[in-house]
Amino acid sequence: MAKRKEKKYRPISLISVVITAILVIIYALNGSPTFERLKEAKNDDYPMTVTFIDVGQGDCSLIECGDTVILIDGGESEYAGTVNSYLALKGISEIDCYIFTHPHSDHIGAVPGIMRVNDVNGVMMTTFSEINIPTTNTYEKLLDAVLEEDCDVLYVSAGDTYTFGELTLDILSPSAQTDEYNDMSVVVKVTYEDTSFLFTGDATQTVEKEMLSKFDLSADVLKVGHHGSYTSTSEEFLSAVSPLLAVISCGEDNSYGHPHKDVTDLLDSHGISVSRTDKQGNIVVYSNGKNIYVNGTEE
Ligand SMILES: [Zn+2]
Repeated sequence: MAKRKEKKYRPISLISVVITAILVIIYALNGSPTFERLKEAKNDDYPMTVTFIDVGQGDCSLIECGDTVILIDGGESEYAGTVNSYLALKGISEIDCYIFTHPHSDHIGAVPGIMRVNDVNGVMMTTFSEINIPTTNTYEKLLDAVLEEDCDVLYVSAGDTYTFGELTLDILSPSAQTDEYNDMSVVVKVTYEDTSFLFTGDATQTVEKEMLSKFDLSADVLKVGHHGSYTSTSEEFLSAVSPLLAVISCGEDNSYGHPHKDVTDLLDSHGISVSRTDKQGNIVVYSNGKNIYVNGTEE
């Protein structure tokens, strides 16, 4: 009896093609977060919320996840009451970590007024050298408020990682000292399960280029750098972050013309959904660890 030649390759059956296609679809659905706009807020379903509080021409982001409360910046000094009212409305009087991105008044001006009213357990900021240490009243008032609070101070730089409850904070910048305070911005990526948010302060394209060479910048939500100024958000940076949602924090009819058309056109050409505080007021973004939701209509 002739020895039967063993088949080396089996032809691909239709069934295996169908099974593979189904597995690819399942992986795609589970593997990357999706994005949806909500008509009504449903806090209970989403353990993490990020509120981009409308502080006019400035920045203030509130991150809540379980019992963890993190605040980033606070806007100009006159907005302390606005932020305090919003925190009170949410029943918040204690902040686990208060991050100051950089010493400009549109970011830290309101901080002393916010720290007077709320308990702050720790602050996160960058350190300066003798050459570029800020000497403004705004910065001195910030340091006085931190001293008065007598809380922990974390001086952070690129490459540091911290955990607060279920949140992971990766610090992506600064990595070098400079006189350009926008480029001293603390840039932080906050991750909750499969979803992540990138807060860039006012870091310019110079810093974006540095971060591109060092870190995975991909994030589901991008707080657009420098209120939408053309000095931030290069094409390469936006491609690397590849957000589902971009949030621009700026004042209505501000004198800087923020956000600049170059940036809004770029976001548009990448098909990225945009929310703006000057158009919508407070913007609340929700995460259930898998997917991202935001209130309001697109701008
Ligand atoms: Zn700013």
